[in-house]
Amino acid sequence: MSQAKREILDANESYAATFGAKVKLPTPPSRKIFLLTCMDARLDPAKFAGLAEGDAHVFRNAGGRATDDAIRSLVISHKLLGTNEWFVIHHTECGMQSIDDKIMGTLLESSLATADFDGKNWSNAKNEGGSSEGHFIKWLTISEPNAAVVEDVRRIRNHALVPSNVTIYGFILDLKTGKLIEVEEASEIGKATTACGQRRS
Ligand SMILES: [Zn+2]
Repeated sequence: MSQAKREILDANESYAATFGAKVKLPTPPSRKIFLLTCMDARLDPAKFAGLAEGDAHVFRNAGGRATDDAIRSLVISHKLLGTNEWFVIHHTECGMQSIDDKIMGTLLESSLATADFDGKNWSNAKNEGGSSEGHFIKWLTISEPNAAVVEDVRRIRNHALVPSNVTIYGFILDLKTGKLIEVEEASEIGKATTACGQRRS
């Protein structure tokens, strides 16, 4: 068994031993909130936002972007499980700022192995041949952090399946201080335009 698998199973044994009352938690998030954030290993939404089991929905992907699957999950979260305040949370020093579609496509075309980053540029140690498929994917990279949060909040706000009484906030987590900085322009766009329970007129 790999070390990673062993460590996870050992940790899970301790977790299960104290699982206790969590077995009674209801499915709908008790605080009616949804966090869309980046998969970056330095971010722990439970810690930076003070979440306990049962509190919230958390969806993570590379960049915390409003992908089709993020929107699918947001719609399910509201429609079936009652969340009505959604937080789009990107962060500083995001890896998605270090690439663009062209770089990603080119890296994958020459090798599928993990690339090296020198703090500025990505390169492949060997160019043994990869796949050109990477050129056909929109990687949703980030060139301007605030603009990316605005773009994601706007896409969610304008989506036909997102009701107007849901509030959407935009934030960037500063990895130098741990503080959440609100992207005012995004939160302005994400404001609910009808109160909870009201129908769109
Ligand atoms: Zn990131």
